Amino acid sequence: MSVLLSSKGVEKRFSDIVAVDGVDLTLSRGDIVGLVGGNGAGKTTMLRLLCGLYRPSEGSISFHTEEGLQRPVHELRSKLGVVPESTGLYHRLTAWENIRYHSRLHGIEDDVAWTRTLRFAKALDFAEDLHRHTRGFSRGMRQKTALLRALVHGPEILLLDEPTGGLDVTSARMVRELVRQLRAEGGTVIYSTHHLAEAQLVCDRIIIMHNGQIRIDGTPDELMDSTQTESLEEAYVALTSDVARTDAKDEPESKLSKMWRSFLTPSSRNREVSEDE
Ligand code: ATP
Repeated sequence: MSVLLSSKGVEKRFSDIVAVDGVDLTLSRGDIVGLVGGNGAGKTTMLRLLCGLYRPSEGSISFHTEEGLQRPVHELRSKLGVVPESTGLYHRLTAWENIRYHSRLHGIEDDVAWTRTLRFAKALDFAEDLHRHTRGFSRGMRQKTALLRALVHGPEILLLDEPTGGLDVTSARMVRELVRQLRAEGGTVIYSTHHLAEAQLVCDRIIIMHNGQIRIDGTPDELMDSTQTESLEEAYVALTSDVARTDAKDEPESKLSKMWRSFLTPSSRNREVSEDE
């Protein structure tokens, strides 16, 4: 399988905190990868680096085009679909209007966007809610809207930050089904989760992060073999048994939402619309 995204020696520092510490990572077309780790392990920072929202303090992240060229990932954001922790929806718009707004900024015809959205919305049992205003949406409904928005422009890779966080059992299952559907269609997905069992259900490959570093990257069997353990949970414990750092983030939610909005919308025109989230 051909390489799609790679990071070389990537480090991300916030003052004296090294959130990501020398990460080398390669994602190939068709990979379904789970990025697993505890609180503060560096998963969100790594995903933000991989999608070009953050620039590395050291090292580089490249997108590999089908023509065999390597370009800095922030130059090719339209190739990526991102579902951030904070969904950043416009509450005065309906779910479909949020999605259409995003697809128009990517130059997608409305009827193409609608057909694509409807297909995935059906998979998420969300088609009936597409014309509802997002104000008052539950976390799960916001997550589903953000997922549809991330898929509408036909990205080559989907990056999901805790996509099932806050979802009920059935909805979480639907998201996993959707990821499997994307895999069957040859899509590439990386998603972060605290839950090893969740990653095991969907991913062929699991990356365990701890204290900003990759502790292991392999199939579930490889993880168990290399730690001589009999379950993934034991493997995880063996790989992350040193003390985890516990420093807290100090980042106002509203600032983060604004960052995501300007990242997700490739034009400054979006500033005409206010966000209430
Ligand atoms: P969680 O599962 O709790 O969301 P995570 O694995 O996603 O954690 P990150 O959010 O990437 O971890 O955080 C990694 C480290 O970087 C933490 O120590 C965090 O406090 C720090 N950090 C992340 N973002 C910032 C920021 N914008 N400013 C300062 N420190 C940050």
